[in-house]
Amino acid sequence: MSNCIFCKIVNNELPGYKLYEDEDVIAFMDIQPINPGHLLIIPKKHAELVSEVDDDVLQKMIVVAKKLNTAIRKSGLKAEGVNFFLADGEAAGQEVFHVHLHVFPRFKNDGFGIKFPENYRNKTDVSELKIIAEKIKSSLDSN
Ligand code: AMP
Ligand code: ZN
Repeated sequence: MSNCIFCKIVNNELPGYKLYEDEDVIAFMDIQPINPGHLLIIPKKHAELVSEVDDDVLQKMIVVAKKLNTAIRKSGLKAEGVNFFLADGEAAGQEVFHVHLHVFPRFKNDGFGIKFPENYRNKTDVSELKIIAEKIKSSLDSN
């Protein structure tokens, strides 16, 4: 995609501090980190949503995330924990429409948080969970 900033980083048309590269995947530093060490893992081939990425490339992405998670923890950067985060679609918070998996160090009181809806604490009735699960399962079968 000619006007995609992440494709431009893949093609070295935009600066990006790359940490890892193979034939399918790159990892580079996020320009606006939540905490120092925040990085992004992307497929080299442009895809907007996870569903458009080949399974073998997605598998590679999570393995690279595992390696970089370990590297972050060994690096001396402040990392009491690590978050993996992926926004799949605009409503999920995606701002750059080339699939990217965020990996970033976390530590107590770092100021990052996820806002939960007000009714989050209410447990869903098991019968309702079953209805929802069946909807997902029937779509899974027709995948
Ligand atoms: P998301 O909201 O999940 O789409 O995240 C997009 C991420 O891309 C943000 O964390 C940005 O800081 C990051 N980002 C945007 N432009 C660049 C860039 N040129 N180089 C590195 N990271 C970028
Ligand atoms: Zn792209």
